[in-house]
Amino acid sequence: MHLLSIDDLSTGDIETLFQLSDGFLEVASRPIKKVPTLRGRTQVNMFFEASTRTLTSFELAGKRLSADVVNIKASGSSVSKGESLKDTILTLESYRPDIIVMRHHQVGACRLAARYTGASVVNAGDGAGEHPTQCLLDLYSLRRTFGRLDGLKVAIVGDVLRSRVARSNVFGFRKMGIDVRLVGPPTLMPPGIGRWNVPVYQDLAALEDVDVVYLLRMQLERARGRVPPVPSLREYSRVWGLSRQRLRPGQKVMHPGPINRGVELSGDLADDDRSLILHQVESGLAVRMAILYHVLAPHPEADTG
Ligand code: ASP
Repeated sequence: MHLLSIDDLSTGDIETLFQLSDGFLEVASRPIKKVPTLRGRTQVNMFFEASTRTLTSFELAGKRLSADVVNIKASGSSVSKGESLKDTILTLESYRPDIIVMRHHQVGACRLAARYTGASVVNAGDGAGEHPTQCLLDLYSLRRTFGRLDGLKVAIVGDVLRSRVARSNVFGFRKMGIDVRLVGPPTLMPPGIGRWNVPVYQDLAALEDVDVVYLLRMQLERARGRVPPVPSLREYSRVWGLSRQRLRPGQKVMHPGPINRGVELSGDLADDDRSLILHQVESGLAVRMAILYHVLAPHPEADTG
């Protein structure tokens, strides 16, 4: 199976992934963190866009499952010589990969790749489209922290316009019973936001009754050559930035990373014990091991050795 959108998964699939992740989290606490689950399988990570957390965790996840893992980056590959995505995929197909984990700057690129390969394609972020594995690791982090998902209240704040995380999280969080809302200036909301069927607020007062404030990065690299949607970063951070003082006691903060300290959140809040940012990263490795296992062999019991 492929994992292209969070909509590809039912609530039952997501629960199965959580059970698998619990097992893989335990594997990560052992002195020898490797299991034979995917021995003999080939995983290709194709990253056409920058990444730290996603690439590292997918690479480590494959290696800890004993798969043969190969990384391809756009710079240094034939893509930089003008090879089309279709031809790159067809070339790789000759090596019979089992899984292709792909990040691309264009919405829909992973879906296109899935047409030309017999491998399971996992979308690791396609432009401003989707980032389903981020959504799954965020859900898992929430469940580990609160012990439940149903009925939690989460506000997603900031640059929704250019965020694939916001799109996957709104749909995935809602699927699992989370009460989700978007908060930010209207210039950072995408056209057609009405179709997302989610409450949108233009005031930080909307954070008052939530359990979790989920901050989005200001995606400056995507604004190149266009009129910036906010007058200045300093003003954005003054009006919309989150600091310790703006957080109610008991509330948690999440962020998909990389964070811009001093823009969407203050440095001291990033380091505060109410921040789940590193907890998300830890969850990410276990969840990505579960995803690799699930797309190849969707059985609830993993061989965790
Ligand atoms: N790491 C996330 C992504 O790849 C969020 C971000 O870059 O702001 O979409």
